[in-house]
Amino acid sequence: MKIRKFPLFAKILAGMVAGLVVGFILLKTGNSSFVSDWIKPWGTIFIKLLKLIAIPLVFVSLVKGISGMKDLKKLSKLGLKTVSLYLATSFFAVSLGIGVVSLVKPGSVFSKSESEFYKQKFSTENQVTPQVEQRRPMDFIVEMVPENLFAAAGDNRNMLQIILVAVLTGVAIVLLGNEKTSVFVSVISATEAIVLKIIDFIMQFAPLGVFALLAGLVIDFSGDSAMFSALGMYSITVIGCLLFLGYIFYPVFLKIITKKNIVDYLKAIFPIQLLAFSTSSSSATLPFTMEQSQRALGISEETASFVLPLGATINMDGTSCYQAIVVIFIAQIFGIELSFTQYIMVLLLTILASIGTAGVPGASVVMTVMVMSSVGIPVEGLALILGIDRPLDMLRTVVNVTGDTFVASVVEGKKKS
Ligand code: ASP
Repeated sequence: MKIRKFPLFAKILAGMVAGLVVGFILLKTGNSSFVSDWIKPWGTIFIKLLKLIAIPLVFVSLVKGISGMKDLKKLSKLGLKTVSLYLATSFFAVSLGIGVVSLVKPGSVFSKSESEFYKQKFSTENQVTPQVEQRRPMDFIVEMVPENLFAAAGDNRNMLQIILVAVLTGVAIVLLGNEKTSVFVSVISATEAIVLKIIDFIMQFAPLGVFALLAGLVIDFSGDSAMFSALGMYSITVIGCLLFLGYIFYPVFLKIITKKNIVDYLKAIFPIQLLAFSTSSSSATLPFTMEQSQRALGISEETASFVLPLGATINMDGTSCYQAIVVIFIAQIFGIELSFTQYIMVLLLTILASIGTAGVPGASVVMTVMVMSSVGIPVEGLALILGIDRPLDMLRTVVNVTGDTFVASVVEGKKKS
């Protein structure tokens, strides 16, 4: 059988396994620098290509989706439904995280003296903690409004700004009517076709990109094994919650709401999950999420172009669940008892923090600082979990994109019924 006959996801999976095996062999034979010099750059190129295409894709498909609606009532209904579903799933994810971490108490593996030791150690070594300015809860709304179009398009973390400009453009087109805007709409359609073709090219490169990313990861995290065992309980708590969300909560609710077959759904989104897992970035995965959702989940372009880019920026259920667990875990480690009000604050702030988290690797660690400092937990504790963050980041990104496909499927299902 020729290689090109294999489905893409099988090639990506093979790339992942080969990356782990090759990374491990080269690590054990003392060839780490070969990986850094000659293999890792292919992973970087792959991620850069995906990011390159994200902003043009979001802009053209959103403008096209909205301008095709003809009816603004339909748009506001779709917007309201989408945002409510996103908030509801985030609320559930955070509550799950808080509930489980409070029951399992992974932070209790440390004795009182150990708690004191870590408190000392991490406050003197606080250069390990990400240096960020204090974030305020409303910041993400203020930052959503761009002051310069080119600056907004110049940084992928400004995806919400691009969404805002695209929505304004789409709404303006609908209000102006067909006659005045048809030329612009044709240009947008043609651009979209070109962008989708480029995504096809990039995805052909995915198996190699994923191979390089995973080989690089093996090398990067070879020194942190001691931390792995100390934080085992914490990792199990995070992984358990994430697996529950991704593989039980969404599929079962999708079945209940839309009668969609669970196995068909999981099969359709599996390639998206693989890419999210290997890139750790929902923004980088977005172009493929949009393409695959339309092709394999039967989601219309109208729904996909609105719901998915918005989801990739504001709906991060894996991230919000994880952030709640981190905050409470660190409080447990330092022996800090949280009051009921503090729990409610953690709940609300983590939802806000996850909305403001960019869809890039490790982004939520930075946002967790805002939650921790608002609740009064020493942010230095974050240094404790940084060493094992990457594998958890990979898994929470899987849940983040799965949550987006779930909401898109529900919105689409409701439209059809
Ligand atoms: N890596 C995550 C994502 O892109 C964000 C995070 O939780 O750090 O969805």
